[in-house]
This record gives sequence, structure tokens and C-alpha cells, in this order.
Amino acid sequence: MTSPSSKHHLLFSSLSIRAELQQALDTVNYIEMSPIQARSLGPILSGNDVLAEAETGSGKTAAFAIGILNKLNLTLFKTQALVICPTRELSEQVAVEIRRLATGLANTRVLTLCGGKPMHDQLTSLKREPHIVVGTPGRLKKHIEKDTLKLGDINTLVLDEADRMLDMGFYNDIVSILEQTNASKQTLLFSATYPEEIAKISSSIQREPVEVRVVGSNTVEQIEQVFISTPDSQKTEKLLSALGKYQPENAIIFCNRKVGVQKLCDELRSKGLPARALHGDLDQRDRDEATLLFANKTVNYLVATDVAARGLDISALSAVVNYDLTPDPETHLHRIGRTARAGLDGLAISFVTPNEKHRVRAIEDYLQIKARFEEIPESFSSNATSVKPTTCTLQLSVGKKDRIRPGDIVGALTAGSELTNDDIGKITVQARMSFVAVDRALSQTALDLLTNGRIKRQKVRARLIR
Ligand code: AMP
Repeated sequence: MTSPSSKHHLLFSSLSIRAELQQALDTVNYIEMSPIQARSLGPILSGNDVLAEAETGSGKTAAFAIGILNKLNLTLFKTQALVICPTRELSEQVAVEIRRLATGLANTRVLTLCGGKPMHDQLTSLKREPHIVVGTPGRLKKHIEKDTLKLGDINTLVLDEADRMLDMGFYNDIVSILEQTNASKQTLLFSATYPEEIAKISSSIQREPVEVRVVGSNTVEQIEQVFISTPDSQKTEKLLSALGKYQPENAIIFCNRKVGVQKLCDELRSKGLPARALHGDLDQRDRDEATLLFANKTVNYLVATDVAARGLDISALSAVVNYDLTPDPETHLHRIGRTARAGLDGLAISFVTPNEKHRVRAIEDYLQIKARFEEIPESFSSNATSVKPTTCTLQLSVGKKDRIRPGDIVGALTAGSELTNDDIGKITVQARMSFVAVDRALSQTALDLLTNGRIKRQKVRARLIR
């Protein structure tokens, strides 16, 4: 596969932040910034409001914690930062992360104020103003009403998982908390999704926020997006050319409708491409088999609808193909966010028919990108079948009910000298059957071993799925 766009490896050591904070980052071994950190820390440290779309796991907590701690005035015993979170658990996690990064800043006081905890203890802690307060909207509001929490000196306000807070009906509480803060503060808004309500709340509480979006744990910039113009009638040929040119090892190919999925999958298979369909009209067994074979690398292409692909957790996807462009830019983002996971660069190929140009414009606006269109010569299509699946999957007639564990299957396959651990891939043990991926070149050998031998003294039936 050709190497898509460059990766950004920004180091924390390149930031101009206070030495104690730099030291703390070193101690917890944060060396390289995650994409959300690399994108948001610049504007955060220069005092801008930031609207960031990032999920838990992206490193967002450290991003705002660094912002808060860098400008904290430790000689001032006033509450200078407030982080509002949807739940007690998240508040605790956030406080832990802030404290971890504050170890070099002697006597930094971080207090959590959440519901479900005795009011009395919180009142005692509040007698001395903490530097940083982390809490849930309901309890924070209660303290404001009791006049036990003073927010007049807040210079950083963070809304964490803002979408979840809105879902939980905290809008009014948040607004009334914000009324107690001064207008000149910096407001950082983090949200895993970007529904209209987030845009609304942002525009009512933020000043010219810098917008940062990451997908999964990656930035949109890490995904090379290629758009290909095509008449409707030539989509499949163009798809073959694109697959031939880029040769992704595996890809989810999205269609907008179930019939489209089946038709395209049949077409690809008839041309010799290892593809399976995934849509709601298939029975559960077929859907499970399709996902399993795809995860096992027994098929390279999974043709799917958005609904069917939801929840599918394939960690290393070389490419995402939008055979049908979606009318919804957020769906586009979620689709392409499936490639480039875990810091790898990714590729997204999108086909655009003449009357879908407006969808491209919506995506450009939403992702703040300029779409790059590419013409791919037809001659590439002859390479479309050159990427072969690396494994076959064997289905065995025994499972958990027969007390089979993955180790038993490995044992049966490696008892002789024909196969080693390296030739065996993913193993899935279900109630009454099991699946094991094995190196394609050794699949017949593996089948013979299993059908002629025994697993845990039991005879098994096995079938090869290619
Ligand atoms: P979060 O998205 O804030 O919940 O963070 C996810 C996890 O990543 C937390 O356990 C952090 O401690 C960790 N983390 C955050 N930033 C970095 C980094 N730059 N390098 C390594 N680990 C990090």
C-alpha cells in the first residue's frame, strides 16, 4: 500500500511550559503528544477558547490539565479552574490525572465536588479555597446556591464530555454555573460527538473557539482522503482501479443501502475479490461469519451498511471506502475514523457521482478540509486481485460446551512439526463451535491434522472457509 500523509510526532519537550510541568510529564513518561494534544495544546496554551471533538482515551484530559496547571498561580488561594464532568467516575479520573501532572507544583489543591458524596465533607474542604475544582453540574450548582463555591477568580473553565452532559439534561445547570464566572475566562469544550446542541452551546459560551477534531485517537489529517468522480454506471470499475492502485490489505466498503451492499459484494466476488457482505437482511449466522472472516483476515473486504458496521471493532483497518457517499458529514467522519486507528496513517477513498457534489462540500465544511480529487487510470484494475487473504479459517464442531479452550486448538495444531504458533491466527471459541485462522498455505495441512486427530481426546469435524 502506498504510504499516505505524513504523521506528526510532536514531543512535549517542544512546549514552552513551566519546568515543573515538563518534569511531571517526564515522570509519567508522556513523551510524544497524542493527536488531540498536538492539535489543541497550541491554542490552549495561548489562551484561546477551544472546541474539541475527542473521545475518552484520546489524551484530552492531559491536554486541558496542562493548560490549567501552566497558568495556575499557586500563591493565590483562589479557585482558578473549574472542570465540569457528567459523572462522578469521570470527575475522579480527571482529578487523578490533574494531580499526577501537578506533582511538581507543591501544594496544588484539587477538589472533586460530586453528587452521592456527603455534603458536609465537601463544605469542610471548601473552607480553604481549592485551586482547581472538578465536579458534576448538580452538586456544583448546589454549592453555588449555598455560596460555598466561589467562581469569581476562575480563569479556565472546562466542559468535559459536553455531549453526554447535554444528553443527561444538564444544560440549565451548566448555564447557571457559567453565570457565576467572569467573562474573560478561557473556555475549553470537549465532546465525543458534535451534534447541533454542541454547536449551539459553544456559540453561546465561547469566543471564537479554535476547533479541533480527532477521530478515534487520530486527527483527520492522519487520514489520506481521496475523492474519485464517477458516473453512477462506472462506480464498480473505478472501485477496482482504486483497489488496484492502493492495494489496501483490508477495507470496509460502505454502501448506503442493504440492496447496494449485496449487489456490490456479489459483483466483487464474481470478479475474484475476497469480499463478504454485512447488512441487516442477512441472518445472524451469516453476519457473524462475515465479521469473523474479516477479522481473521480470511477475507479482505467487508461490504457493509453503516448500521451493520456499527460496533464492529477491527483495530487495524488499512482503508475505508465510501462506495456511496453519505449525505451526513458526521457519518462520513465516523466511517473514515475506522481507518488510521492506534496512531497509524489511514486511507479513505470516496466515490462521488455528478449529483453528489454538494455532499463533498458538506464534508469539506464539516471537516475543514479541501477535498482532493484523483483520476485513477483503468489499467490499475488488473491489480485489484493481487492482494490475497493471508489466512483461511477453519470451523470446528466443538466449543465451550465441550470444554475447549483456545490453547487446546493450538495444542492440536502444533503437536507435530507441520505448524508452529506463528502459523496460527485469531481463535474464537463459541458455545458449540470454534474458529481458527491459519496461514493460507498450510490450511489443508491444518484441516487434515484436525480431522484425523483429536482435541482433548474428542474427535472433531472441521471445515475450511476461504
Ligand atoms: P484520556 O483520553 O484523557 O482519558 O486519556 C487516556 C489515557 O492516556 C490516560 O490513561 C492517560 O494517562 C494516557 N495519556 C494521555 N496522554 C498521553 C501521552 N501523550 N502519552 C502517553 N499516555 C498518555
